[in-house]
Amino acid sequence: MTIELTSRDKAVLISVGHATVDTDLQTEEYVGRSTAGPGAGGRSVFFTDGKRRVRLSIRNDSPLHIRKEKDGVVIERNGEILAEGSLEPVGFHCPKQAYITVSEQCTYHCAFCPVPRLNGPVKSPERVLSMIDQVYLSGDLHAISLTGGVTETPEKELDRMTALVEDLVREYDVPIGVSVYPTSGSSDLLYAAGAHEVKFNVETMDRDLFSRYCPDLKLDQVIKELKHAAPLFGKNRVSSNMIIGLGESDETVLSGVETLAAIGVIPVLRAISVNPDYPLPGAARPTAERLHHLALSSKKILGAHGLSPLHSRTMCLPCTGCDLIPDLDL
Ligand code: SF4
Repeated sequence: MTIELTSRDKAVLISVGHATVDTDLQTEEYVGRSTAGPGAGGRSVFFTDGKRRVRLSIRNDSPLHIRKEKDGVVIERNGEILAEGSLEPVGFHCPKQAYITVSEQCTYHCAFCPVPRLNGPVKSPERVLSMIDQVYLSGDLHAISLTGGVTETPEKELDRMTALVEDLVREYDVPIGVSVYPTSGSSDLLYAAGAHEVKFNVETMDRDLFSRYCPDLKLDQVIKELKHAAPLFGKNRVSSNMIIGLGESDETVLSGVETLAAIGVIPVLRAISVNPDYPLPGAARPTAERLHHLALSSKKILGAHGLSPLHSRTMCLPCTGCDLIPDLDL
């Protein structure tokens, strides 16, 4: 009998966030080099037991270990097997999607975000299309997701994204999701360009922590644009990352989930990633118990507002790699 990855075990894996991975498993097909999300700048693998998926960064000092076993792989800790399954081929950034960071640089200074430090390139439309084509030709392109930092102004970044979405809608018959820092009118422009879903991140609903961690951003502006986007894009088409582990209380998280769900937005509860080279005083990776409790409570709140990630098609909700997603994981 195979050992299933339960939602509680997935919470344990997310709370650790990394694993050592046998070198013979670290092939181009299975190792993603992320330029977005919590793993930006790092290498990671996606494990699935066929039902649940988890993304783990590759680290040499992890208590978790992924190794080959018969036709698949196992994840073990202290010699005990936690789950049996396989590694998934990575599209771009995550399985079954081309999730592309268009601008790998940012003029803002959110303390938890590695993108400004990486200071990578801004991809041309031709480069983005060729990356998407690679996933398309593999036969596994189910969605296109775009994100990026703010290279000059949010308005210029939005122009870049809307032009890109207009090109992509003509080329590919898959849903397109876009995550940007929104300004007034972002939703209207992205919707008119043909985007199917948007994600505008609140990062945290604790206002003191927000001003400390995101000194250049305006939380009210993000919430205002989320409120505008939800009826425009439709049910289960608008989401927002909320980071867990900055020092916020569970009450603040859950009242934030309620606030967002009440305006038609699905929060993604994302465990903070702390790079050991860039410590964040006061921040800590949440425990498995906390992640599981918050995800279960969030599921109830979403259900009460008639929302379900089951119907979301782009970006993090269908991916599920980094989070416990209501209705998909538990
Ligand atoms: S959950 Fe989101 S950030 Fe994590 S791997 Fe999937 S798409 Fe990337």
